[in-house]
Amino acid sequence: MTRITIAKGDGIGPEIMDATLKILKAAGAQIEIDEIEVGEKVYLSGITSGIRNESWDIIRNNKVFLKAPITTPQGGGYKSLNVTTRKFLGLYANVRPCMSLHPFVSTKHPKMDVVIVRENEEDLYAGIEHQQTDEVVQCLKLISRPGCEKIVRYAFEYAKQYGRKKVTCMTKDNIMKQTDGLFREVFNDVAKDYPEIENEHWIVDIGSAKLADTPEDFEVIVTLNLYGDMISDIAAQITGSVGLAGSSNIGEECAMFEAIHGSAPMIAGQGIANPTGLLEGAILMLNHIGQSSVAQKIKNALLTTIEQGIHTADIYKENISKKKVGTIEFAEAVIQNLGKLPSTLTPVDFKNGAALVLPSYIKKPSKTKTLLGIDAFVHWNGIDPNEIAERLQKLDGGLLQLKMITNRGIKVWPEGFKETFCTDHWRCRFQSENQTDVPKEEILKLLRSAMENQIDIVKTENLYAFEGKPAFSLGQGQ
Ligand code: NAD
Repeated sequence: MTRITIAKGDGIGPEIMDATLKILKAAGAQIEIDEIEVGEKVYLSGITSGIRNESWDIIRNNKVFLKAPITTPQGGGYKSLNVTTRKFLGLYANVRPCMSLHPFVSTKHPKMDVVIVRENEEDLYAGIEHQQTDEVVQCLKLISRPGCEKIVRYAFEYAKQYGRKKVTCMTKDNIMKQTDGLFREVFNDVAKDYPEIENEHWIVDIGSAKLADTPEDFEVIVTLNLYGDMISDIAAQITGSVGLAGSSNIGEECAMFEAIHGSAPMIAGQGIANPTGLLEGAILMLNHIGQSSVAQKIKNALLTTIEQGIHTADIYKENISKKKVGTIEFAEAVIQNLGKLPSTLTPVDFKNGAALVLPSYIKKPSKTKTLLGIDAFVHWNGIDPNEIAERLQKLDGGLLQLKMITNRGIKVWPEGFKETFCTDHWRCRFQSENQTDVPKEEILKLLRSAMENQIDIVKTENLYAFEGKPAFSLGQGQ
């Protein structure tokens, strides 16, 4: 017996959870259940996280969490429970298998069978945002080497365990050379440990276009958080319906399983929701807790039911479907089919379905770090870059001298274009003439001088070289 935590969530959540649990029980899943309440009611009781402290204890104790979708109330400072749960529990890998069920679910891509492995904790989802000037706000994109290494290794281990032949990495490293560049560098390094698995890289924009056009060319895709969020919805949608996919969120200690869709409030309480997405989440969960034979039995019964044309309204089509059913009738049909194998769709075999066991991340030795200067971000309402440059050149920065000014990343001094539009947010780069380690006192000297001369510095960023190699971007046009 494995003790798991469940939450029935909001909207259609309770209906699809009841249907899912009924199927799990009939299939002989060896689980004991602790139920917690999350979502709308908890939010509206004044808890902005949507979950009570005692519920965290239950989730952390049981380590396995099956969650129905919840409704996040608009405004009011409510935090997304999904994002909070992933980060608090260190659920670094979001895994979403997206497979077509042609010819029983209408899709333009009959041969599609892709798994999206999305980094789940970092990137712009760190949610570190600031307004710095009247006109400019920023969001920090944080990417760590352990974060990249864990998710990339997860993708390769997944491919190895499930007999997949190729792992595709998607980044935008032609533009973000430091952040996306690190993800790709780690991908290239880790790929060397798996010579039997083909690897490739796509720039994410054309890569997602290619995925939407010929998904059969992809097997496992690994990518950063934001791109993964988008790509995984595209992938699920083009199988025929987002209502059919489940996903797992895996950490070193805990794991959470869910449907990928939301709480569908418009159809809540009508008994017509499709429980397949949550059931797919539960199937991933059963594999994770070592009950692969039950998972296999349920998945084959699910495929058989869909193959029999027993469809809920969201996938019902006159010319394909045989019978339109509600949530509970659909669950009952799956139960009737337990033990049967689909005849047109390929039956699943989960003999390798157990949870992946990955090595823990081993910290790398520190590199030699040399301070080369700073980027000082200045709030200034003027429009002529030469004017601000003249004022900054008069500052006493000791070893640090003004080298470049950019506005929204584009070089405007020295020698910018008069056509470049400038906002009130100026990135002013100060470096020492010789490339030696700059003492931090020089920065203080520069900042003090700026303050005395009414220069409004809203943020600074140190410019470092690691092992002698400059580790910061150049200005566009530099
Ligand atoms: P949604 O996924 O709830 O609905 C999108 C469309 O798909 C709707 O037409 C809906 O009726 C349909 N649909 C979704 N699931 C279905 C199912 N199982 N069977 C049949 N039809 C289904 O997305 P939304 O409308 O953007 O969001 C509604 C609420 O859900 C919002 O409050 C949002 O914040 C929340 N949400 C929660 C999660 C989660 O808890 N994991 C994920 C996404 C959205």
